[in-house]
Amino acid sequence: MKRIPFIAGNWKMNCTTSEAVSLVEGIKALISDITPEQVEVAVCPPFTALHRVAQLIEGTYIRLGAQDVFWKDKGAYTGQISPVMLKDVGCTYVIIGHSERRGRFGVPDPDMSDELLKLFGDNDATVNRKITAALSHGLKPIVCVGETLSERERGLTDEIVRRQVIGALNSIPTESVENITFAYEPVWAIGTGNVCDAYEANRVIGMIRGIISELYSSELAERVRIQYGGSVTPENIEELALQPEIDGALVGGASLRPDSFSAIVRTTMSAKQRIGQK
Ligand code: PEP
Repeated sequence: MKRIPFIAGNWKMNCTTSEAVSLVEGIKALISDITPEQVEVAVCPPFTALHRVAQLIEGTYIRLGAQDVFWKDKGAYTGQISPVMLKDVGCTYVIIGHSERRGRFGVPDPDMSDELLKLFGDNDATVNRKITAALSHGLKPIVCVGETLSERERGLTDEIVRRQVIGALNSIPTESVENITFAYEPVWAIGTGNVCDAYEANRVIGMIRGIISELYSSELAERVRIQYGGSVTPENIEELALQPEIDGALVGGASLRPDSFSAIVRTTMSAKQRIGQK
């Protein structure tokens, strides 16, 4: 089974509209020859830039993603954005359950107490609701899972990731699962420069595929894309993309520059071609 590699850029809380315009114009110029059969590419700007970026990528192969979604269609939920709204603005993808929304930060933030860090409040149950709502409106979730440093040090990586994957897939029907991309993002690797060892990332991603196989079928598990995320750069992507289980990357910091993001896309394409996965 040849899965099409997938590179998504998570811009996080960066880019005013004008900054988003120059970033996306730069990316467009550098990957205009890449087709979605080679590598699928998505950018996930902040909500405020979605509309403008949607206009600029129209007619290209770049897809639009949001960074979060609420599970209700509309109503008295001040500050929230619904799946209906994301569809309306042109999103194909939505990141769900990012560790920064689950209150699990890679880089400690001295301005945020533990209590404040939990304010965004995502957990396995809310992540599952968001996935269900996104799928029901035709959005494709990019679901983030991963252990903290202390969980890894205590030997709990597999247990934590397993719990998150099973929680995410609770009551998700078979026919929807293929529309989900998982991103294995060890929390300690996000924004820290400490990329996960490629063999270890491949092992954990293989385990995630095994869980999908147990819950559904091995045929379906072979079709689900699972990215790696955490300090991916143009320098380390090749080793990651050469791993057979790793279907691309969710990229934070390095997605904020057209040259580094496009280099990650191109290197992924050539690495997958080399191992015959594309
Ligand atoms: C992320 O935010 O999903 C991420 C992987 O960030 P970075 O690439 O900056 O570690």
